[in-house]
Amino acid sequence: MKFISTRGRAPSLSFADTVLTGLASDGGLYVPESLPAFSREEIASMAGLDYRELAFRIMQPFVGSDVSEEELRGIIDRSYSTFRHSAIAPLVQTDTNEWILELFHGPTLAFKDFALQFLGQLFDLLLKKRGERVVVMGATSGDTGSAAIEGCRHCENIDIFILHPHNRVSEVQRRQMTTVLSDNVFNIALEGNFDDCQNMVKASFAEQSFLPDGRRLVAVNSINWARIMAQIVYYFYAALRLGAPQRTVNFSVPTGNFGDIFAGYLARQMGLPIGQLVIATNANDILHRCISDNDHSPRPLVHSLSPSMDIMVSSNFERLLFDLYGRDGAAVAALLADRSAPMHLSKEALDRARELFSSYRVDDTRTVEVIRAVYESSGYLLDPHTAIGVEAARQVRRAEDQPMVCLSTAHPAKFPQAVARALPTQEIPLPPHMQDLFQREERMKVLPNDLKRVHEFMAMALGG
Ligand SMILES: *Cc1c(COP(=O)(O)O)cnc(C)c1O
Repeated sequence: MKFISTRGRAPSLSFADTVLTGLASDGGLYVPESLPAFSREEIASMAGLDYRELAFRIMQPFVGSDVSEEELRGIIDRSYSTFRHSAIAPLVQTDTNEWILELFHGPTLAFKDFALQFLGQLFDLLLKKRGERVVVMGATSGDTGSAAIEGCRHCENIDIFILHPHNRVSEVQRRQMTTVLSDNVFNIALEGNFDDCQNMVKASFAEQSFLPDGRRLVAVNSINWARIMAQIVYYFYAALRLGAPQRTVNFSVPTGNFGDIFAGYLARQMGLPIGQLVIATNANDILHRCISDNDHSPRPLVHSLSPSMDIMVSSNFERLLFDLYGRDGAAVAALLADRSAPMHLSKEALDRARELFSSYRVDDTRTVEVIRAVYESSGYLLDPHTAIGVEAARQVRRAEDQPMVCLSTAHPAKFPQAVARALPTQEIPLPPHMQDLFQREERMKVLPNDLKRVHEFMAMALGG
């Protein structure tokens, strides 16, 4: 399978090269030239498969000859053996035709483990085959950093450096990163904010000569194609359990960078009967304004109780735009020429988007109310991100008689402040494997917001 850029001017790449590249050279994102599609009969034949076997069937058509069937099975096995629930992605019913898909049973308690456990294993395999050692570098304001570290900690051909803003991430989130003491894991606490961390990473990708032995940087952010691909699987998994392909199933997705919900869109393009996808946003509502009012204009970032959705402009939205504009790369490039300018979709593109997507915005006050109300009515404790998805689903669902699946993107213990606001007397213990998190030894390097100092530290750590 070949992968092409959403801006139409970069060379097409194989699966392996796509995974080991970040942005395309024309500034676009890579997407498959054509999607694999499954017939109704083929989907029906997947009913009852366990998560790993289903993952193999869904992902195999994408990887082509770059990864053998046996290798892919091995990667999938290792990726999901770290999950604490044997169903990997269990469904829980919370109301008539309303379900929660629990995506937080991985090592860091957020759905990002589905993609990053897989990506770490995939990197390791591809790099061993090439005899190459690379450096993963990323910035995090919370969930991505710990999930990336857990994904790469056992990879022999990777050293990973994660920058977080010093004293500006929660203690749970910091400890999930800094208590991983593997020799190839380096946490940098930067004296600055998240933007400073991101700028530091960008500048390092632009000028990599500071790395010893001709090594190069690889990105693990949510534009990586393999991350999206791994997320398609749980849409199939949930829908099959609720009666697909005989029944149409709908999903509500707490959305930040549009990676997770884009995977749901792809599942539908591959044949899964999905009737409605709900884009649930917090006060950072650019996607909601885009779908409801055709107003895609960046506004200053607001810090909310659902920090993993605090995003100003969602990078993966570009992949949807590419399809909405008939896969015309030049049209997408023109539309996105200035990312900080307001963008208006053509009527045709907007109509197309609205056939499948609905959107809704939930502010902090309402988020807290929903956590409380759902707990009181069903005894189920939602994390703030998931609460936004549940509320959005309840507000905009189109078909009461079809299942609505709300993706639960994090475990409530990961965001105790929001839960405490809703239910002040409720204890939210960490799951058993994390109970000693606050006693574990930490390792991190505090560095000034200075590119040269960061590069010196990295070069030394890499033995250069
Ligand atoms: C990353 C994240 C999201 C947003 O997912 P996107 O793929 O960026 O849209 C939502 N909830 C949680 C808990 C997350 O970590």
